[in-house]
Amino acid sequence: MGGSRKAFQTLMVRIDTDQGLSGWGEVFTKNGELALKSVFDTHVAPVLIGRDATQIGAIRRDLEKLHHNFGRVGLMAFCVSAVDLALWDILGQAAGLPLYRLLGGATRSEVPLYASLTRYGDPRAVADTVERAVKEGYGAVKLHEVLVETVVSARAAAGREVALMLDTNCPWTLAEARRNARRMEPYDLAWLEEPTWPPENVHALAELRRSTTIPIAAGENAGSLADYRVMFEAGAVDIVQPDIAKAHGLSEALRIAALADAHNVQFMPHCFMIGPGYVHTLHLAAALEVPLLERYYVELAVEPLGESVKPRNGRVAVPQAPGLGCAPDPDAIRLYRVG
Ligand SMILES: [Mg+2]
Repeated sequence: MGGSRKAFQTLMVRIDTDQGLSGWGEVFTKNGELALKSVFDTHVAPVLIGRDATQIGAIRRDLEKLHHNFGRVGLMAFCVSAVDLALWDILGQAAGLPLYRLLGGATRSEVPLYASLTRYGDPRAVADTVERAVKEGYGAVKLHEVLVETVVSARAAAGREVALMLDTNCPWTLAEARRNARRMEPYDLAWLEEPTWPPENVHALAELRRSTTIPIAAGENAGSLADYRVMFEAGAVDIVQPDIAKAHGLSEALRIAALADAHNVQFMPHCFMIGPGYVHTLHLAAALEVPLLERYYVELAVEPLGESVKPRNGRVAVPQAPGLGCAPDPDAIRLYRVG
């Protein structure tokens, strides 16, 4: 990968049962692994010991109610999410079914991916990377940029056929967002993601959405169903992007997806993970017929969950073995473990 980012830390969680099954989850980390591990070890793990691993709903409710004073968005929610994911993996293995079948089944054996680029801040570097991703077979590319010039150069590099999205990560006031959206309208963006600060101000998003032709996407920074209800009722988004490793797991994602459906909002989960959480999101995308799954566009020396879930020609195969259908490669963990 071009760009300067050489390190990416993530926190994986393994839950073992006395029946010999092990389930994997992933905590949304963003290099906060030490704080998250401490929260997990002191407040989450003790609640799990001795529980029936198939009682996902009860365990999740207990964790959420016990710890809600820590906040419904943030570190604790990330840890609860990872537990939910690991328990779904265990459930799939216990049932002898791949996760996507527990979630409703799928008609596709592969899911199309979009290449989610890191931030370059430079129109030339953005164009080069877009070109490379398109050559590798990606039919859709998302930039993480804030300069309108990068959108111009990305569109020139991508041609008219490739879907182009822009994620700005909450930089602007409503006035700035309006101005920039107007300048970007000629470049046919499939969506503009998180253009305003702060992310929970869904009314600013709603106002922007009414004033631009570019579809608005957001949702990776909300924590649970009630947040999404407020977002939908405000008319804030065309596309909603919950992260299953942040917003209370797969269980909550299913409820959010149903609510999105009722509000004619497209459900497109956020996924900036390369561990088990990526594969959980893959199963969810397969089962809910999500049109495109996000894939961090990065060259990895080792694919942490094995070669079978590595992107090929801008697509990824849906694992067919029970549960997640794959597990972190022990050699890769030994090689890259930092704590
Ligand atoms: Mg984003």
